This record gives sequence, C-alpha cells and structure tokens, in this order.
Amino acid sequence: MPLPLAFAYRSPMHAPVPDPDPIGPDGTVRLRCYLPHIHIHYFSGTCRQCQRRVMIGIELAIQMMGSSAATAGELEQRLKCRCGGRVSLSLAVDDRSPETVERKGRLPQTMGMVIRE
Ligand SMILES: [Zn+2]
Repeated sequence: MPLPLAFAYRSPMHAPVPDPDPIGPDGTVRLRCYLPHIHIHYFSGTCRQCQRRVMIGIELAIQMMGSSAATAGELEQRLKCRCGGRVSLSLAVDDRSPETVERKGRLPQTMGMVIRE
C-alpha cells in the first residue's frame, strides 16, 4: 500500500518519497526522488567564480541529464557557468503557502531555467 501523501511530505528538505534506491553512487539524491513535488522544488546554483545565480526546475534537470536516475551531484558536475566557472548547487523550496502557490501559480524557476546576472 502506498504511503499517504501527508506522511511522505513531512520534510520538504529531504527526498519526499520512499524510493528503493534513492542515493546514487556519488552519495547524493537521485533526481527522480524530487518528482512528486516538482511544483515547489528547484535547484539553486551559484557560480563559484562570478556569483551568477542559476535556478533549474526538476523536470528540466532530468531532461538535461537524460535520466531521472541521475543524481543532484551529477547535475552539479555537469553545470558550467557562462564565465566557465563551476556551480555550487543546492535544493531550494518555494516557501510560499500552498494557497498562494495555487492562486499565483508555480515559480518560473520550478518550470525551467532562470539565470540572474
Ligand atoms: Zn560564472
């Protein structure tokens, strides 16, 4: 029997859903673990060289990696800033209330890529 959503959802900072193999060989979480909450989760990265910020939705991240079994760490390895610098990545959560998300819609960064100069 699948777990009720409320149970799986208690901690938005961690992989929200039980996965038989959630951690990849590099010790970071597989992208598919974030799929149930793509409307509020996204990856937020900062260039270690020029501090440019990049935000990437979960679906786009999976598309970029070609597999939902790819990990957040592999995504970080893959990312390169326009300046050639490496990008430090972390998982970010839309912390608006569920009512606001419903009313105003998803943040642009959960649906694609947003770059802030
Ligand atoms: Zn840069």
